[in-house]
Amino acid sequence: MDSWPIGVFASVDAGLGVAWDVISELKLPTIQLHAPHSEKRNRQAAESFRTQLDDMQVRCTAVFGGFEGESYADIPTVVKTVGLVPAESRESRLKEMFEIADFSRWLGCDTVALHLGFIPHEASAAGYEEIVQVTQQLCDHCGSHDQYLHLETGQETAGGLLEFIDQVGRDNLKINFDPANMILYGTGEPIDALEQVGAHVRSVHCKDGTWSDQPGETWGAEVPLGQGDVGMERYLRTLQQIGYTGPLTIEREIPQDPARQRAEIGQAIELLTELRSKILG
Ligand code: MG
Repeated sequence: MDSWPIGVFASVDAGLGVAWDVISELKLPTIQLHAPHSEKRNRQAAESFRTQLDDMQVRCTAVFGGFEGESYADIPTVVKTVGLVPAESRESRLKEMFEIADFSRWLGCDTVALHLGFIPHEASAAGYEEIVQVTQQLCDHCGSHDQYLHLETGQETAGGLLEFIDQVGRDNLKINFDPANMILYGTGEPIDALEQVGAHVRSVHCKDGTWSDQPGETWGAEVPLGQGDVGMERYLRTLQQIGYTGPLTIEREIPQDPARQRAEIGQAIELLTELRSKILG
């Protein structure tokens, strides 16, 4: 496959991606898929999705896990509710991630991804070791089926993420780099971060955002691609510099307004197509 096939983040019945029936309209070669609700995570459903994707000539490059009870309402709520970090739901969510990894395998996809949640910044912090252990369990489950686990960026600094990957110590643990999240969460300048973690990046999101006036305390704003503070040309040039050739997956997290989401994704495809030919020639 050519370098940087363009893709879109899509949903069946959960998550913030474009609706399933929009995929064929966009005529893109790849998608990432938000895992559907549990009743559709069986083998028969996965194989049916796989057939539909084959018919559309679309390849699913990652399946993202997400959980009931997660809320991105504000940053403190993310800390309490998202991913495998909250201790009280960790075991049941780990089981769900195993199911999602199996669903992904039946779909023919070698990559599972998630927002792990807010990992404490210091390796010595209370609870850190347990988060390392649950990540190792998930990596090992994925590894037993030759799958990778990608961590979505945003909630950690580049340095914190590198330290965590080192502590987990599993070769199939990689990064899904989302430059806008670094801005939205106020965790660091995304291009510097990408240069630091580049060796671990195996998938990316193309999403844009503007900084909050209180970074790390309140949200920045997600905006249409090219209109925020990421700097798309510099972002793509940095991806080239780190040797990344995988999909450019567009995320526009406004499923509440599908017409606008569809239109802005169309503009994002144009922008990425233009930048890709400018940079790759
Ligand atoms: Mg993202």
